[in-house]
Amino acid sequence: MSALDRCAFCQARPLQESAVLRWVGPADRAAAEEEERVTIPLCARHLDRLRRAGGSGWEHRGRRHKLGWW
Ligand SMILES: [Zn+2]
Repeated sequence: MSALDRCAFCQARPLQESAVLRWVGPADRAAAEEEERVTIPLCARHLDRLRRAGGSGWEHRGRRHKLGWW
């Protein structure tokens, strides 16, 4: 089973690949310690979670994630 067959955050089947900005630090991204732009597969549930988190991002294992690279 390849990494593309499941969501980046759970075992579910991904709905789509999404451009995600990932950073370490507080919800205020301007204060991010480090950030990276990645394209990762997301299931419907996690896609929805990131959508709802908006600009302040969704925290997971010490990193915040938001949709879009800008
Ligand atoms: Zn998921």
